[in-house]
Amino acid sequence: MNFDCKPLANYSLEDRNTLGFDVVAEWALPITQAEQIPPAIRWAKNAGLSHRVLGGGSNVVLPAQLPGLTLLMDIDFIEVLENRDSNTRLRVGAGVNWHALVGWTLDQNYRGLENLALIPGTVGAAPIQNIGAYGVEVKEYIDLVEAYDCQTNQWVSLSKKDCRFAYRHSVFKDEPNRFVITAVIFDLPKEWQPRVSYSDLTNYFTNRAIETIAAQEIFDAVCAIRAQKLPDPKVIGNVGSFFQNPVISNQQLQFLKEQFPQIVSYPESATHSKLAAGWLIDQCGFKGMQLGNVGVHNKQALVLTHRGGGNAGELLGLAEQIQKKVKETFGVDLIPEPIFFN
Ligand SMILES: Cc1cc2nc3c(=O)[nH]c(=O)nc-3n(C[C@H](O)[C@H](O)[C@H](O)COP(=O)(O)OP(=O)(O)OC[C@H]3O[C@@H](n4cnc5c(N)ncnc54)[C@H](O)[C@@H]3O)c2cc1C
Repeated sequence: MNFDCKPLANYSLEDRNTLGFDVVAEWALPITQAEQIPPAIRWAKNAGLSHRVLGGGSNVVLPAQLPGLTLLMDIDFIEVLENRDSNTRLRVGAGVNWHALVGWTLDQNYRGLENLALIPGTVGAAPIQNIGAYGVEVKEYIDLVEAYDCQTNQWVSLSKKDCRFAYRHSVFKDEPNRFVITAVIFDLPKEWQPRVSYSDLTNYFTNRAIETIAAQEIFDAVCAIRAQKLPDPKVIGNVGSFFQNPVISNQQLQFLKEQFPQIVSYPESATHSKLAAGWLIDQCGFKGMQLGNVGVHNKQALVLTHRGGGNAGELLGLAEQIQKKVKETFGVDLIPEPIFFN
């Protein structure tokens, strides 16, 4: 089949970024089949335009005018490759909604992804920052990532090792716009243990005196806890956590503990610890602060919000104020989690 490339000019992305900024893409192309990608990349190259990939827009900060070609990832399928006594392997299209996939796996009694319930966005974006929540990272369940390599113009299948996954990081962040992910292959072992050591989950189950915990109960618990803590992007524009939790040496942590005995930290490795970025921001007095059309959420200081009429410049101005104050107070650098397009 011949795939024509007919991008749409001046395409509004207002409904495709969870901050709800008024954004217009110079050119946009909905991608429903992987085969559309090579001609689309050729089209952009021949026109001298850059290209970008957009899933659900829940981890990006977009400018009012987005130049070049934006590929809108809508590839939608779920395929069971193998269902053995030991494990289940699934191949899932990049455009499938992440939370819908988690719900679907539990309906089939495939367990493992339940701690990652209610994370907005698409399956194709999940490997980009190695999404994680409530003590689980998606890398644990990824077998292969299928992608088009725009540098070599070849289809590639990247192993877990090739993806170089780390905390909120992967090869896809190191080499932005090189790979267009078309599908992810998941491997879900049948052997399963509930993972509820994260304090919110431990408290949830202790308070309800549930002893034998099922995967569906973890899914329900995660959804309930998240709904309480995080603003719904359909109501208040946001991209979830705006900053990563800083990883510092245990030596630096010891030093900080002497000055700030209440500092919130979690062990990261034998030598390093993770600080709760939300706590640092809260201590600097930003929680609930409003600056023009943007602000800091009043329940979770890690979440920056947009209530309409604002833009990327305003949000980045607020982010910079926060970074500066946290650095002055604690000597710690806050690294933004979302990707800034320009
Ligand atoms: C309320 C809220 C809560 C959140 N909670 C969490 C959380 O608990 N844990 C967590 O890790 N994240 C969280 N996030 C962030 C976000 O949901 C995830 O990063 C998600 O994976 C982004 O998916 P997306 O489809 O919206 O990606 P987009 O925002 O569209 O894109 C993000 C990046 O991925 C790239 N990309 C997207 N799709 C592809 C593709 N198919 N091929 C190549 N590149 C691609 C884009 O170019 C961009 O660089 C939260 C966000 C919100 C709004």
